[in-house]
Amino acid sequence: MNIIIFGPPGAGKGTQSSYIVSKYNLKQLSTGDLLRAEIINKTEIGKKISEIINRGNLVSDSIVAKLVENIISNEKHKNQIIFDGYPRNLNQVNDLNELLKKYKQKIDLVLNLKVSLDIVKKRISGRSICSKCGKIYNKFYKPAPINSNCCSEKFLKKRDDDNVEVATKRYKTYEKETEPVLNFYKNLKLLKEVNGENPIDQIYKEISDIMAVI
Ligand code: AMP
Repeated sequence: MNIIIFGPPGAGKGTQSSYIVSKYNLKQLSTGDLLRAEIINKTEIGKKISEIINRGNLVSDSIVAKLVENIISNEKHKNQIIFDGYPRNLNQVNDLNELLKKYKQKIDLVLNLKVSLDIVKKRISGRSICSKCGKIYNKFYKPAPINSNCCSEKFLKKRDDDNVEVATKRYKTYEKETEPVLNFYKNLKLLKEVNGENPIDQIYKEISDIMAVI
């Protein structure tokens, strides 16, 4: 099955996706991660987009579509993808529909993690990522283990765009751009709303219950 997971920055999309990925053996396609990898690897695309991302703006649809196609076209991931952070506007919905048609696939479920701006601010200001293993932590909700070799203080890094000012901008951009996208999937009766303000395991339980019946 192919799934799309929506939610503003800090909604827990990455955390929930990683649980779903291991339980259902899916490929996580996070456009944010793909774009950040381009920056880290200093590719031509990476050079063009680092400023855009650090300001909290959206990268061009054509760049993102190219990165998405690299994964959708891979037979290994056929009908086994969780889209995280894509599509983000109606143009990207069209791009995704074209790609799904081209590679004979479809979307089976769309999840929307709903979280208020106040909660997002708190989550973003506490968020860090282990530069060694990629695990995501939060000093308020999910602190890194003490005495761990891997996820110790020296490996915990903040994302460049994880500050309250940029997060607020990303939240507003998200609301403006993504709400019409949600309506598109609602009309197709694929959309399920999930309360993203609950504790992590409760959100995951709600998602598992939804997935059990599709
Ligand atoms: P995320 O990791 O999903 O929060 O994305 C981080 C940043 O990457 C966003 O603020 C955008 O600048 C960029 N980005 C991620 N996904 C997309 C997308 N689908 N379209 C355009 N820009 C994106």
